Amino acid sequence: MTGYDPVVRALRVKEKVARIESGRELRLYYRFRIDRWYGGIATGDVIGCNLSCVFCWSWRFKDRPDLGRFYTPREVFYKLLGIARMRGLDKIRLSGGEPTISRDHLLEVIRLFEEEGLKFILETNGILIGYDEGYAKALSNYNNIIVRVSFKGVSREEFHRLTGANPEAFEYQFRALENLLNAGLKPGIEFYPATMIGFSSDSDIIEFTRRLASIHPALTDVDWEYVILYPHVKMVLDRVGLKPTRAVKPNSIPRNMI
Ligand code: SF4
Repeated sequence: MTGYDPVVRALRVKEKVARIESGRELRLYYRFRIDRWYGGIATGDVIGCNLSCVFCWSWRFKDRPDLGRFYTPREVFYKLLGIARMRGLDKIRLSGGEPTISRDHLLEVIRLFEEEGLKFILETNGILIGYDEGYAKALSNYNNIIVRVSFKGVSREEFHRLTGANPEAFEYQFRALENLLNAGLKPGIEFYPATMIGFSSDSDIIEFTRRLASIHPALTDVDWEYVILYPHVKMVLDRVGLKPTRAVKPNSIPRNMI
């Protein structure tokens, strides 16, 4: 089994979705919005990801730099702060594509929200944090973050089937948890795993959970993700011959999360 290297791909994608201007790193964003996850959260959707998950909900804009606009960290801060203040929200996140691709931009956005006293939820596939322990150390400098490492499947084979990436790259996601732990973040509180189990066998899920426990028992409190069967996602799954065993319909979740 072979596939693309998501670390190399991150560098290529970064060339399209991030740029330096006057010493600051700008990132391409698709939109800013409120979302109901986490009890209400101000959300910025970035463009660009280093994976190609078959179940990706942000397929419309994830790989479309032409749909985005570059923002400085401070512009992002003011956009999201405005949304949070208007709706009385105390949490911020970047979502859509993969926020870790533009490291300097991300860290500056987190820093600005730390100064403001707002929680920052970093939703990430964890690949770059697993690849570079320095990334986890840099994140540990902030006291306002919660890192949600979103695994793509529960085994190497499944990771490859769902993302098309090299199966060995699955290991970066475990390493992300190890690096965050070693950097001093509190497991289960300041970082935690999530995973897509829409296609997983029970035995693979058990093995996956065992592996998490071997890193730290608190990491067995997993945020289990099911496939959301948006029409486009269903079409892609049909095309590649993948049948989810655990899925939910889009109309079974609140309207503004679609
Ligand atoms: S990691 Fe997230 S944004 Fe990237 S392709 Fe997978 S689901 Fe989509």
